[in-house]
Amino acid sequence: MIRQYELIDRIKAYDPDMDEDMVNRAYVYAMKMHGAQKRASGDLYFSHPLEVAGIMTEMKMDTAAICTALLHDTVEDTLATLDEIRALFGDEVARLVDGVTKLSKIEFQSAQEKQAENFRKLILAMSEDIRVLLVKLADRLHNMRTLHYIPKPEKRKRIAMETIEIYAPLAERIGIHKIKEELEDIAFGELNPEARESIQTRLNFLRAEGGEAVVGRIIGELQKKISEAGITAEINGREKTRYSIWKKMQRKNISFEQLSDIMAFRIIVKDIAECYHALGIIHGLYPTVPGRFKDYISLPKPNGYRSLHTTVIGPENHRIEVQIRTPEMHEEAELGVAAHWSYKQTGAVAQAGGKTDGRQYRWLRELMDIVEHTGKPEEFLENTKLELFQDQVFCFTPNGDLIALPRGATPIDFAYAVHSTLGDQTVGAKVNGRIIPLNTQLVNGDQVDITTSKSQTPSPNWERFVVTGKAKARIRRFVRQQQQKEYLNLGKAMLQKVLKQEGYDYNERNFGADFCRQFKANNAEELLVGIGSGHISSREVFYRLHPEHRPAPAQPTLQTIVTTPEKKTLQKGKSAPMPIKGLIPGMALHFARCCHPLPGDRIVGIVMSGKGVTIHTIDCETLESFADTPERWLDIAWEEGEDSPESHIGRLIVTIANTPGSLGTLSTVIGKSGGNITNLKITNRSLDFWDMMIDVYVRDSKHLSDIIAAMRATPEITAVNRARSR
Ligand code: MN
Repeated sequence: MIRQYELIDRIKAYDPDMDEDMVNRAYVYAMKMHGAQKRASGDLYFSHPLEVAGIMTEMKMDTAAICTALLHDTVEDTLATLDEIRALFGDEVARLVDGVTKLSKIEFQSAQEKQAENFRKLILAMSEDIRVLLVKLADRLHNMRTLHYIPKPEKRKRIAMETIEIYAPLAERIGIHKIKEELEDIAFGELNPEARESIQTRLNFLRAEGGEAVVGRIIGELQKKISEAGITAEINGREKTRYSIWKKMQRKNISFEQLSDIMAFRIIVKDIAECYHALGIIHGLYPTVPGRFKDYISLPKPNGYRSLHTTVIGPENHRIEVQIRTPEMHEEAELGVAAHWSYKQTGAVAQAGGKTDGRQYRWLRELMDIVEHTGKPEEFLENTKLELFQDQVFCFTPNGDLIALPRGATPIDFAYAVHSTLGDQTVGAKVNGRIIPLNTQLVNGDQVDITTSKSQTPSPNWERFVVTGKAKARIRRFVRQQQQKEYLNLGKAMLQKVLKQEGYDYNERNFGADFCRQFKANNAEELLVGIGSGHISSREVFYRLHPEHRPAPAQPTLQTIVTTPEKKTLQKGKSAPMPIKGLIPGMALHFARCCHPLPGDRIVGIVMSGKGVTIHTIDCETLESFADTPERWLDIAWEEGEDSPESHIGRLIVTIANTPGSLGTLSTVIGKSGGNITNLKITNRSLDFWDMMIDVYVRDSKHLSDIIAAMRATPEITAVNRARSR
């Protein structure tokens, strides 16, 4: 177990300005909290957070991260609370501890590759601060180092599997090779001890065969040649890990025989210029193996890795892999993001003295870049431009399957992501065991349980809050199908009406394929849908059926037609065509009685099955009841500049003072403004005031506004407004 002063010394070695007091307090607090708790190894539990803190010092982490390592299991496993930690160690440490605690609660269940990938993303998404992930990786590393103490083989296997599928790739993604390799090697030993054993045996054999001596001679020769060129280099030969050898054997389905299969040589020189210089020497002395040269200095790997790689037929005709890099590149290769962290940190402290937020933010961004760019091609397809990783949330099915969704996704999106039928039949959802509204936005780690009913169909309402393309498409498709049905019924009703007016019976047998083709429809159904949707005129269909009724061509008229019976219901039965654009020709027309639209108002049409179109003002409250059926809405507008000779009813809600003559004043004001009262109803009568509803014939909305303005200027009239609904 590391002693307290040892820990401090280790941190001070790379960060002389560390907060010694805080680390000491975290040490004592964690020790006290874990008390007599024991690990499976029989050691005091506290040895674990302490070792994790030790691993963090190898990554040269800052004070907050070290304290987080010391405290990382206190909230989960002891009586400590987050509030207490915040009070004792501040917001930063509390936030980090909270992050690690949350990560520890997620459990990996399936070995499916896609699931594993989503799981890695979930962990990254939940590690809002890169230090959270680093503590988690250090935690996992120490747990792996002590894995053999766990008595149950199944538990050891599960942890090893999770390590190899989740944590080792995570360590690799952020470039921490050292941790990645150790995690893999321990997990490999647990999951496939025979394979590891046989590779070890083979390695031992090759060494006994004189492999070690060969390696020594190769290093010696390389060293000599390079220093002859005036370059100081540190050269070592490194055995590849057992797991990486095994993976390579599996991938290429080969056994390893060659030294080059197990050894990699590394040349470390002082700067980039010397890297290329050393490469030139190697390439000048030994034949190169074609296709093996890689320049990761001018073109670094997505995780930031830089180095020169080449394979040559080297000393004593051994095929060898050589990596050339600077000490800085080497540290980055070993520590990845963590190396950057410590460099940038000291840099930032030196110049700015404390812009921690910006620095962390940049680190987070860089991590995100790494994650984004190492995705496989199929992931790129799956995650479209709008659904990039940082815009995702990860949720679980009740079975523990992980579903990745774009941020803002709701239980409906979730249901459709699982299965189209599940989405279609959704009636409710439970998130983490609680029933929630279907438009609730899901967050990372939510477990979602969808309730279904076979008789349920998608609600057009859902389209307003779903965010995934799949859910949108399914809902729209359903709405479109519904709409086709509506159009069909509407078209039929419209055609029936025209025929009836003209004294004919409706007979579908008249609409054979040949007849329908005149309207570019394939059958009667398409013809009727065409009429219902306004693409085909029902009157034209009638004329084609009974050409003798077609009137002689007159002067061209506007495309706005109102059928005769409806005209009667309009104002005063005047016969001028309605100056409204966007209507379906031949369709019946009503003005809504709730809002009494006037020329000049912004208006919308609502298709009422079997009744034609009702026109409302755009702000009419009644429209809310049609929100669920967008397919019934028509975009219409008054023809501009069209002077309507007709009168329209405008409805006013008025409050007047209950004084003698006030009613007379009211009618005078309206009359002087050119309005004609057609109806007046007192809706409420109190001692001082009367509320009433007045219908006035006006030309258009401006006319009504003028009347309202005149009324407002009259002292007896307390309030006047246009009616917006019944
Ligand atoms: Mn732990």
